[in-house]
Amino acid sequence: MKIKILGGAREVGRSAFLVENSEGRVLLDFGVQLTRPPAFPMHIQPREVDSILLSHAHLDHSGGIPLFFISGGTKLYTIGLTLELAQLLIEDFLRISGFYLPFEYIDLLSMVNETRRVDLNESVEIKGFTATFLNSGHLPGGASILLTSNSIRLLYTGDISAQGSALLRGADTNFGELDAVITESTYATTDHLPREDVEREFIEFAKEVVERGGTLFVPAFSVGRAQEIACVFKKYNFPHSVAMDGMALKTNEILSRYPEYLRDPKLFRESIGSIELIRGWSQRRRIVKTPSVIISPAGMLVGGAAVFYNAEVSKRSKNAIALVSYQMPETPGRILMEKKITIINGKPKKVKAEVRHFDFSSHSGRKELFDMFRKIEGEPKVYTVHGEEKNCIQFAEELKTELGLDAVVPKIGDTYLLK
Ligand SMILES: [Zn+2]
Ligand SMILES: [Zn+2]
Repeated sequence: MKIKILGGAREVGRSAFLVENSEGRVLLDFGVQLTRPPAFPMHIQPREVDSILLSHAHLDHSGGIPLFFISGGTKLYTIGLTLELAQLLIEDFLRISGFYLPFEYIDLLSMVNETRRVDLNESVEIKGFTATFLNSGHLPGGASILLTSNSIRLLYTGDISAQGSALLRGADTNFGELDAVITESTYATTDHLPREDVEREFIEFAKEVVERGGTLFVPAFSVGRAQEIACVFKKYNFPHSVAMDGMALKTNEILSRYPEYLRDPKLFRESIGSIELIRGWSQRRRIVKTPSVIISPAGMLVGGAAVFYNAEVSKRSKNAIALVSYQMPETPGRILMEKKITIINGKPKKVKAEVRHFDFSSHSGRKELFDMFRKIEGEPKVYTVHGEEKNCIQFAEELKTELGLDAVVPKIGDTYLLK
């Protein structure tokens, strides 16, 4: 078995790994880096790839896949729920960045038509490979992928969260004996607070804001985080009104058709059933003046209804903004978090509302990653990817010193032979 690193090495974004055996080649993810213009993984001819296996819907894993369907011949394997969410996100990506993209809407449709939908724990046979999709706890429909060929067992963690959330069960980490692991490293050098502590602190803060007559705005990614936050409000019987806006509503509809992928389908149903769904401007203008909570994309305030809510809510000191997602450097969300400044109509404005950040991460922290590696049998070779360079390096070092594992930090273009 041979692995070639095409992207996602010493960076977060454009994850793509090519795996080859004597019969064929499969790709694990083919994402994009959400820069302007978007950056793609290392080039590969679509006809050189037999199949693509997609771990989860996030664009840093899925955003480049339509490229392989311009002329046909390739097949995509993924969980049905992941396919629907990826389609939603790639459609949005085409709307926002279409001018820069080397594929079009029609290629996305070919991708959807050429997809074999798999279930969690199902194994599929592709050119001498056996691929099994295991719950990764990171995003609805998200999976780690176990790839076996000629008795060599390779695990690709994808993005993984062992602790899960109010929306999702934690990852399945019973991998047995492995020969190699391609592991994410996003938070490999930091520990998260226990999820329930973060949830309680967040609910207390929301109560405080609404009870002083303020509006709490929660910018949240439309797939996953927005629904998780809605579930958290229901789980703690939050006594005030909660509204949701934007593309998150489409995700609600998709998730309601896949209850088996959720930790507590009843909690999800009740949480969506009890919130106000915002569908127009008169509703938007009213809610923003009401003491209540508003959940709306985009999570980093780069677009969507969040821009309107941010401008309105930030004007008054009794209001507050709760950041519940990772804020990429140079995004409006990061600038708000660090400097309490927001750009309104092109001008920087001091934010009067209170601004808080809550660590609702959907990636395993240091402790969960090490627990996972301790449970793995055998002595797998480890490749640390999907993290800032210093995190990937430190993680590999610690895997060596603490667990005696042969861990390396690949660069884009590196190839490795597994025997
Ligand atoms: Zn992800
Ligand atoms: Zn990712």
